Amino acid sequence: MIRNRRQISGSFQRHLLVISYLLAVPLSYGQEKISGILYSDNKPVTITVEEGIITAVKKVRKLPSSDSRFYLAPGLIDNQVNGFAGVSFTFGGGELTAEGVKKATEALWETGVTTFLPTLTTNSHDLLRKNFNVLGKAKDDPSLLGSIPGFHLEGPFISPVDGYRGAHPLTYVRKPDWYEFLELNKASGNNILQVTVAPEVEGALDFITRCIENRIIVALGHHNGNAQIIKAAIDRGASIATHLGNGCANMINRHVNPLWPQLADDRLMISIIGDGFHLNPEQIRVFYKVKGPDKTIITSDVTSYASLPPGKFINVEGDTIELTPEGMIRYPSQNVLAGSASPVKKGVANVMKVTGCSLSEVFRMASTNPARFYNLTDRGEIKVGKRADLILFSIVNNELVIKKTFVKGKLVYEYKALESKPVL
Ligand SMILES: [Zn+2]
Repeated sequence: MIRNRRQISGSFQRHLLVISYLLAVPLSYGQEKISGILYSDNKPVTITVEEGIITAVKKVRKLPSSDSRFYLAPGLIDNQVNGFAGVSFTFGGGELTAEGVKKATEALWETGVTTFLPTLTTNSHDLLRKNFNVLGKAKDDPSLLGSIPGFHLEGPFISPVDGYRGAHPLTYVRKPDWYEFLELNKASGNNILQVTVAPEVEGALDFITRCIENRIIVALGHHNGNAQIIKAAIDRGASIATHLGNGCANMINRHVNPLWPQLADDRLMISIIGDGFHLNPEQIRVFYKVKGPDKTIITSDVTSYASLPPGKFINVEGDTIELTPEGMIRYPSQNVLAGSASPVKKGVANVMKVTGCSLSEVFRMASTNPARFYNLTDRGEIKVGKRADLILFSIVNNELVIKKTFVKGKLVYEYKALESKPVL
């Protein structure tokens, strides 16, 4: 077939367009080198990133500049974030918005968190459904760079008993209801990855079975299950204890309590709040000795008060809450903890301090383990083929000071004041 000149010219232009498009994608992304001291072996390394993915990890003799004399690790992965920077995923008078989700995500990036599970806690069905709906739509916003892989529902199917219930409002605690869960999951776009339940409440064991059949991870939390019930729950597929040592009454039986069976069963992973307020150093040390760096996940359980200035606030229930300069949230009238205001990096530094574990081990607990546990095969390690979710940081006075955060290869945060003060 003979084509006329106009057709040839049109086809040529289309080819040009395709070629320039193909060229433009890698060019617009470019290739980037990120250097630092690798967290896993303390050796200088240069990482090549292309299109948001790690394409080379090369040991080097010398770091290219003083600016690269920071530790380099995979971004932190936090499986329990109730809110951040004034944004609550559950409360807030039903005013959760996509902008709020973005604001919280960007503020978390500043703390080195590159992946997190927004966590909704015990509340009315309508509010949970509404907020899951907002989150389900917001999570795939390209500007969040895939930082939200799914959600954690903590409650409302937990123990109604004071102490075990923690700060979850009694009015909304209820028995497990698979159909209610299905509705919530549907509202979230089927993005609930984990539900925390009390195994001893009526209907919980069957609820656990249905979750497992539908590939929802079941966590045990805010409960007073005995050894037999905990074993039954684990037999049915429950695989993690939510913030072990918290969500538990102050006064417990020294023989029969939920702590021993959860520590004793090697099939159960644990998450711990390492901020230094929720568990004392001896608890963290013992939990770590029992479960080790492969069965422990460091979490924050952080609330909307995080990254706000210290002071007193009135919460949605009308109670006065005090945020101390150290990052503790308490009810001054009762002198009890009312949640966490510390991003997970605080727990990372504190767990290192009290257990003496290595940087490599602590990042296993704060990045690699949660990535594997939630089947996020594209992150949690510095390896060729993984997402370039990376942080450069120093450790100063037992604090992780974030210098730079990269999400999918994009620099999303840089702390300029550190430029002249590398750590090592
Ligand atoms: Zn809790």
